[in-house]
Amino acid sequence: MTHHPPIPVYPIGHQSPQQVLKTVFGYDEFRPLQPEIIDNIRKRRDTLVIMPTGGGKSLCYQLPALFFDGLTVVVSPLISLMQDQVTQLQQIGVAAVFINSTLDHDEYVSTVDWLGTGEVKLLYLAPESLLRPETLRLLDDCRVDCLAIDEAHCISQWGHDFRPEYRQLDSVRKRFPQAVCVALTATATPRVQTDIRQTLGFRNENEFIASFDRSNLFIAVEPKTNLLRQTLDFLAAHPDQSGIIYCATRRQVDWLHQALVEHGFSALPYHAGLDDETRRNNQQAFIRDDVRCMVATIAFGMGIDKPDVRFVLHADLPQNVESYYQEIGRAGRDGLRADCLLLFSYGDVDTIQYFIRQGAASESQGRRERLKAMVDWATSGECRRSELLAYFGEAFPSENCRACDNCLKKEEEQVDLTLPAQKFLSCVVRTDQVFGISHIIDVLRGSRAIKVMRQRHDRLSTYGIGKEFSAEQWKLLAQQFIQQKLLARHMKHGSVKLTRAGWAVLRGKKVSGTPVETGGKASGHGVPSDETAAYDHQFFEQLRTKRKELADTANVPPYVIFSDRSLQEMATYFPHSETTLERLHGIGRAKVERYAGIFLPIIAAYCREKGLAENPKSSPRSTSASKSLKSRSQEVGERFRTGESLTQLMQAYGVKRQTLISYLERYVQSGEVLPVERFRAESRLSSETQDQVLAAFDELGPDFLRPVFDALDKSVGYDELHLLRIIYRLQAQGGEG
Ligand code: ADP
Ligand code: ZN
Repeated sequence: MTHHPPIPVYPIGHQSPQQVLKTVFGYDEFRPLQPEIIDNIRKRRDTLVIMPTGGGKSLCYQLPALFFDGLTVVVSPLISLMQDQVTQLQQIGVAAVFINSTLDHDEYVSTVDWLGTGEVKLLYLAPESLLRPETLRLLDDCRVDCLAIDEAHCISQWGHDFRPEYRQLDSVRKRFPQAVCVALTATATPRVQTDIRQTLGFRNENEFIASFDRSNLFIAVEPKTNLLRQTLDFLAAHPDQSGIIYCATRRQVDWLHQALVEHGFSALPYHAGLDDETRRNNQQAFIRDDVRCMVATIAFGMGIDKPDVRFVLHADLPQNVESYYQEIGRAGRDGLRADCLLLFSYGDVDTIQYFIRQGAASESQGRRERLKAMVDWATSGECRRSELLAYFGEAFPSENCRACDNCLKKEEEQVDLTLPAQKFLSCVVRTDQVFGISHIIDVLRGSRAIKVMRQRHDRLSTYGIGKEFSAEQWKLLAQQFIQQKLLARHMKHGSVKLTRAGWAVLRGKKVSGTPVETGGKASGHGVPSDETAAYDHQFFEQLRTKRKELADTANVPPYVIFSDRSLQEMATYFPHSETTLERLHGIGRAKVERYAGIFLPIIAAYCREKGLAENPKSSPRSTSASKSLKSRSQEVGERFRTGESLTQLMQAYGVKRQTLISYLERYVQSGEVLPVERFRAESRLSSETQDQVLAAFDELGPDFLRPVFDALDKSVGYDELHLLRIIYRLQAQGGEG
């Protein structure tokens, strides 16, 4: 029987890893640690890789695989994932195959045949398939150069996903002693790491631990005041985007899914109560972009490798920080911005505590502690990112991450909340500090609820003194008071008590915070709306439709054809030739050969219709390894320094003016100096007005913009204030003005 390789395969010739990254994978730069790891594997040193979900682990063994003469065997526990990866690799012209129970006899035979030719670079296997004698004999006849063990925490009994077959991988190593071994996981606990190292016989010096920060995730927490309305608002802010809504129970999933569908949203449910086929179909529909949003219990997510999940909404509180981080980690694997919102309620805390009490007594203390850490995190007023990283033992280097609700709030307007705080706190005191927030709010709003009447709280001086705020607004205020540690909430009973800082407020100490507008929408601090990047949205949609059509014909997920980012760049640079098309993110040689003939004419037609010209993306200027370690703000700062204008930079990065200004602001705050005159020239204000703003900063200080905004009678927008604040800081640094 003859066989044909199912795909065209491109030899890499004498290219460097950096070149292969572009020509095969279509990426300009390595992510942090990727170059070091790849180098280490190519030198045949065993390697342990710890990287967060979405960090780019796969590339660490896929790229070296292309340099080895022999085969790289990849052990992966999830069948759907391995199929997905093999499809993606074949799309970019890499000879990759898998062997698992889904292959029929003919497919198996042709796979084995192809392996026999020695052309195949990557073979994906589930551990149980690998351990079968016929597979091992098959591999004896191949030259195995590398053994990559994905999800390596499955080796450890201490991990959350122990798989006994993983323990036997050690014997496979011994059978192929010439093969270098790389183990990869996103699990950060030292105990699991030690277990992996010991089981596989690794040495320390070959260990690479990446930062767990996922800087493209915007993280926010809001009190859960009205689940359905908050969910609808959130979805409305993310039209046409893929996302996951996590609920704690099947009941909640069914209810919320039903409600969303009734409101016209494209959603499907997923939980363990649905039969296998329904679950498979729903998951497939999500991966193929046939449905936008998945309403799911945490049963959903393992084995989902969809790179363009744009949001994760937690409708209920996760039980611990580990689960939470893993769940939001499924968003934004493609590195584009993704929004994570958690709706927090103390009712959920009580529910989880109930479940902990029902569970095994031996586990209850640990679970309670982890729950407490989750609650502390959710109710904290500090940077979400730095607290998450601290939980995983990592220090976040910057004071303001600019990508969490608390950090953004620091930059927002602050208002005086002393009066509402005094009302709330004194009501807590009058009711003897033994009630929860809802009861306090009932009293403040003059409710005739049975509990209020029975306690005779309608006779208190604080009864009905808080009618100016709705119950929802009071919840938002109470949340701030807890965040500011004016109140402490009892974990078990839910009652609130004044702290020392709280008593100080009753004695007249001022409180400020973010406003809860009367009337309008209650939430003042949700996730900021999606940054309207400067690509042509209408054209992006058109490209997306084409992509979907091709994907359905080929029976693959759309992101396997092109990522969102590739399409967005097409709708920014409008490439007219194969050369300029290949410069775009995620586009290597194979994609050009496959799809240039389809996409270039579409782009050309659109440009003709709209009278647009090509706006070629510049090829990456420097390819030094240090460049990939540079932050975006440094990059922008340096390009601005060399004379590029804000408008040019807006085009280059496809971001709003405000975003650029914040990059520059960060650059200057890190101690860099840029010419003041450049900023003055970029300002849209007259030079007199600029001087007025600078004088206001002088008088009021640069830390908060709101007072300056007010002092100028709200006549100067925040964009300009940010820009002028840079000038102010530069002048302060330089000692002039
Ligand atoms: P992990 O296995 O660590 O969760 P993946 O290997 O699936 O993450 O990578 C996540 C996404 O990042 C994938 O879509 C991958 O193609 C992409 N990616 C990996 N490395 C790079 C890079 N250097 N530049 C751009 N994208 C990358
Ligand atoms: Zn932050």
